[in-house]
Parts: sequence; structure tokens; C-alpha cells
Amino acid sequence: MRPCVAVIGGGISGLAAAHRLTELDASLDVVLLESRGQLGGVLETANEQGFLVEGAADSFLTTPTAAVDLCHRLGLDAELMGTAKTCRTAFVLSGERLLPVPVGFHLMAPSRMWPLIKSPILSWRGKLRAGLECLLPARRTDGDESVQSFVCRRFGKELFERLVQPLVSGIYTGDPQRLSIEATFPRFRQMERAHGSMLRAMLRQPKSQEASSGARYGQFATLRGGMTTLVNALAERLPPGAVQLDSPVSALQPLDRGRWQLEIGGGCPRFMQVEGVIHAAPAHQGAKLLQDVDAELAEELHGIEYASCAVVGLGYRREQIGHPLNGFGLVVPLVEQRMILSCSFSSIKYPGRAPEDAVLMRVFIGGDCQSGLMRLSRDELIAVAEKEVAELLQVRGEPVLRKIFKHRQAMPQYHVGHRERIARIGECLRRFPSLAFAGSALHGVGLPSCIQSGETAAAQVARQLAVDGAKQGDSIAQLLR
Ligand SMILES: Cc1cc2nc3c(=O)[nH]c(=O)nc-3n(C[C@H](O)[C@H](O)[C@H](O)COP(=O)(O)OP(=O)(O)OC[C@H]3O[C@@H](n4cnc5c(N)ncnc54)[C@H](O)[C@@H]3O)c2cc1C
Repeated sequence: MRPCVAVIGGGISGLAAAHRLTELDASLDVVLLESRGQLGGVLETANEQGFLVEGAADSFLTTPTAAVDLCHRLGLDAELMGTAKTCRTAFVLSGERLLPVPVGFHLMAPSRMWPLIKSPILSWRGKLRAGLECLLPARRTDGDESVQSFVCRRFGKELFERLVQPLVSGIYTGDPQRLSIEATFPRFRQMERAHGSMLRAMLRQPKSQEASSGARYGQFATLRGGMTTLVNALAERLPPGAVQLDSPVSALQPLDRGRWQLEIGGGCPRFMQVEGVIHAAPAHQGAKLLQDVDAELAEELHGIEYASCAVVGLGYRREQIGHPLNGFGLVVPLVEQRMILSCSFSSIKYPGRAPEDAVLMRVFIGGDCQSGLMRLSRDELIAVAEKEVAELLQVRGEPVLRKIFKHRQAMPQYHVGHRERIARIGECLRRFPSLAFAGSALHGVGLPSCIQSGETAAAQVARQLAVDGAKQGDSIAQLLR
């Protein structure tokens, strides 16, 4: 009998886990159970009227290398592409104007002072307060704090509101008042600990040659055909019959010798018994599945909140847009009281995503701070995106393409204390060696972290089954002796 491992959830984390299991041990049976009728989870690529529109992620970091490594192993090298070499900047809305994020300002702190001093984004008072950061003593006590508290403490409220909040909210669609600095940007807290000041640490870093700001665009890559290329390549590598779509796991029950019974489907469920389980669905699903198995674990999983958001793809003819589009996108501070979080100039960042003489925008709406907007209908959300983009980028006329992706409860929020919670979840899981967790709720929401989490979970379960197999082998050998 070949031991069987069930992977719950066919997003990138579950796919990476299932694929890694087949790489590690060809003697394992792998089943990937996905509740929806398609794989990829939040990842979806639409090809319409010559536009390539991503529904969620459109890029991944090349360091850590898990995503790029996986693409290499899947033979997708020719599909990999970097961001355009020019226009590597983002704009931030400041009153009526779109101003470039100062060169060298990366998410939370400047690596160069002069561009920040010259920029009109901050008042003189705000600049002075930010500059004082290098004189402030470092916080000596350990323990987590919110992103907002950390940045306001170091650089002052103005720099937080005008630059950090919009840049950070663009990544986590979260509320910086609740997001954990230790779980989201530990690097910056480490800088404070090690150097006493982030400014001193950033200014000491070797200066990169690229004049970028906002995100470090040179460190991002994508796939020419979009993220579904990766999803499809992973699915194709799985053994025939391994993927079971429209198969929501509705209950999970431990059996003897580390085995599990899964209930699949609602009204008239079917059952499956397996030797190992990898849970790669959202944490709130895990909480439901495990509430009768381990109340403590279920409660910890339940405590991980999720945010909802929408991505609206809008295509325009280039001549419809008054703005020069000499950047990769724009972010909108909450203090500006607009109805969008950000807008990515997709076809500028990744040429080829719109027909010749056309431009593709992706507008982000919602998140933890503007969750009420998610009650709007799809048409209303598209209308919001159109109106805001028209005002901010001086657009004339109707878009030639409209496409919306709504993500309900899709983005885990790493609130203050997240790392401690994940450690406690790890402790609970020690009670179930043949059950592993993967996914964006754990150690990072970016694709490399999700892939890494899936591959680590696969290694853990494969190792456990090998141990169990060896134990059984030993006892058989003893019996034979
Ligand atoms: C709008 C948006 C933009 C983003 N942009 C980027 C970006 O540019 N770069 C980047 O690196 N990351 C980005 N991310 C983050 C990244 O895309 C996600 O963190 C990652 O794709 C999550 O993958 P996952 O497999 O962990 O979860 P999911 O994609 O949520 O997949 C979970 C799967 O589990 C399934 N499932 C749920 N319950 C059950 C059940 N009971 N039984 C079986 N299956 C079940 C779901 O249907 C789903 O398919 C973005 C995310 C969003 C939402």
C-alpha cells in the first residue's frame, strides 16, 4: 500500500506542497483537494482584448529565491521577466498632485536624505522630525508593536501618514495601526536594535545603482504569460488524477497511527483515509476543520483575521490619459480620503500586457481600512475605480476594457503578536506529526513565502511518513527475525 498525503487547498501554497511531495518521494500518493472549480486560489490571469490582467499577484520577489527556484525546476526560465528598466518609481497622492516617492525611500525609511529633503511631500516640520530619527534612542525593550506606532515613534506622524501608510497598505491591504512590525517588516526593527537608528543603518548601506523608490523594483519578476503559467505548470507536474476540483474538505478526524479521515463535500459527503495531511487553505478554514479535534489550535487559527479587497483592471487608449505615466503606479494615503488604495500602471511595469498604444491599469480597493467599500456591487466598484483614475490621471472617455476580481477574506492580517501566535500554532501542531500547515497566514504573504511554506510542509510530512514507515518496517523485520 502506498501511503497517501492529502493537500487541502489548491492555491499556490497547496500546489507547491503537492509538487514538492512528488519531487521528494515518488512512492507517495498525493491528492490535492480544492473547493472551487479551478486551481490557483487568489491567483488568476485574464486574457481579454489583448490585455493580460492579473487578478491578484502580478510579481514576486526574486530574493528569497523560492519562487524563482521553483520556476527553474518547472522549466519556466524563458517565461521569467523583470520589471521595465525605466520609470522605476511610484507616485504618492499629495492634495491634488501626484508626487514621486523620493528616490531611495523604501517602504519605511529613506536610504538617501537629499531626495526626501527636496520633495514637497513632507512639510519642513515633517522633514525635521524625520531627520531627528538618528538622534532618538532605540527602544530597548523587546516585544512587538504596530507598524504605525513604530514609524511614528521613529520618524513622526507626517512621514507615516504621507509615505509609509500608503506604501505598506498597498502590500498588506492592512491597517498599520494593527499590523505587527515584527511579523511584517522585522528588518527595520532589527536595524533599530543593531544600529540604534534606521536612518544611520539605511544611509550606511551600499547604494544601489538603480534610482528606484517605493518598492525595490529591480528585485521583482513575473511570468510573461501571467501567474496562471506557474499554476498550470505545477498542476501538469502532478500525477494524473491527483487534482480533485469542487472538493471542499468539510471535516478532518484523526485516526490511529497518525492517519486521518477527511470528509469531502456537504450534503452527501464522501470520505477518504490518508496517512498525512497538509492544510494549505486559509486559516479560518483550518479553524473550522479542527474545532472538534483540538480546540486550542482551532482558536489560534481563528484569531488570524483576513481582509477583503477588489482589483479592477481598466484598459485605455494611451491618448485618453493626460498623465505622462512615467512611473509604475500610484498610492493614495488614507488622509486624502479617496476611495482607492493604489493603482498600478501594469503595462508600463511589464510591457506587453496591453495592445500597442493602449495602457492597462490595476486599481486596488478595500482592505482593512476601507472594508465598507466591499459591500459595493461589482459594477459600483468598477465605477469607483473609473472615477478615481479619471480624476487622478486626467483620463478622457470610457475605458476600452473593464475587469474586476473580488477577493473576500483573502488577505491574512499579521496583527501585533502574530509571530507569537504562529509559534503557539507550531506548538499545538507538535501533537499531530502527520499534519502540517502551509499558506499565506503563516510566515509571509508574498509568493516566495507561500511556496516556501508549502515545500517545508511537504518535507515535514514526507519525513514523518518515512519515520513511520521505518518503524513499521522495523517491527516487520523483528517479526520476521
Ligand atoms: C489582490 C492581491 C494582490 C497580491 N499581490 C501580490 C504580489 O504582487 N506579489 C506577491 O508575492 N504576492 C501578492 N499577493 C499575495 C499572494 O498572492 C497570496 O498570499 C498567495 O497567492 C496566497 O496563496 P495561498 O495558496 O496561501 O492561499 P489562497 O490563494 O487563498 O488559496 C487557498 C485555496 O484553498 C481553497 N480552499 C479553501 N477552503 C477549502 C476547503 N475547505 N477545502 C479545499 N480547499 C479549500 C481555496 O478555494 C483556495 O483555492 C497578493 C494577494 C492579493 C489578494
